[in-house]
Amino acid sequence: MSAVPAVWTVKALLDWTADYLSKKNVPGAAAKVEARLLLAHVLKCKPIDVLVRYDEQPSDDDRTAYRELIKRRVDGWPVAYLLGEKEFYLLPFEVTPAVLIPRPETETLVAEAVTLLKKLPESLALDLCTGSGCVAVSLAHGAKSARVTATDVSPDALDVARRNAARNKVADRIDFRAGDLFAALPPGATFDLVATNPPYVTQSELATLQPEVRDHEPRLALDGGPDGLAFYRRIAAGVGEYLKPGGWLLAEIGATQQEAVTALFAEQLDVVKTLKDVAGLPRVVVARKR
Ligand code: GLN
Repeated sequence: MSAVPAVWTVKALLDWTADYLSKKNVPGAAAKVEARLLLAHVLKCKPIDVLVRYDEQPSDDDRTAYRELIKRRVDGWPVAYLLGEKEFYLLPFEVTPAVLIPRPETETLVAEAVTLLKKLPESLALDLCTGSGCVAVSLAHGAKSARVTATDVSPDALDVARRNAARNKVADRIDFRAGDLFAALPPGATFDLVATNPPYVTQSELATLQPEVRDHEPRLALDGGPDGLAFYRRIAAGVGEYLKPGGWLLAEIGATQQEAVTALFAEQLDVVKTLKDVAGLPRVVVARKR
């Protein structure tokens, strides 16, 4: 471990913490970034502003708060839960352990859905399994003429999602509804586009996930049943009734699920394509009602 400095300046705290985190299995570059993010959180400033405060000496209270965060980080807490926030599609989202932390790969789904919605003068979109609301809020933000219905089985997740809609000033165009998939919808509702990032991890894979994900993110948001396909099966069986003719279904999938999900959707819809994510992996199946 590094020598303990005589004076705990911002710079000394950052250097010590980055070194400590990297020795505790947070890889080098991430350790530096996380040390800075967490200190900015304690000092209530932007991460970039930490750099111009190098010579300051944070108060004892701030140092104690920082130490507590570092301890929880080393215990495996994802940094987004410690910060209470995650950026997604360039928008800020509150996150708590009641919701899955938004992932960059889900931006692939949002970008395609926004493009499709923007072609319509007005539109109705549905987000199934909304969680933090990151998809619903990004759709409403990106396509100003869209009205969005967002469902989730977890009331605690919906509380977070509602706050995220308010924070990003789209609450007036999103109807959040509690319930299991389509059961949450008003009778007769139909949509131009249905987007979903359902739980899709197989039960045997759950045990092999990174400890941060496995031990801290909601099981409810990850568990896709014995073969990971439970939700796609139910969505495929039900979605036809809720799509307008020509309406779109966009579903995020696990990187190995393209064939299986395509086969399920093809029973009811025309499968148009599969989009790759930023890492080049198959990530979004796009289908359309005839
Ligand atoms: N992409 C997430 C993960 O790998 C899973 C998200 C989901 O099941 N919808 O942890």
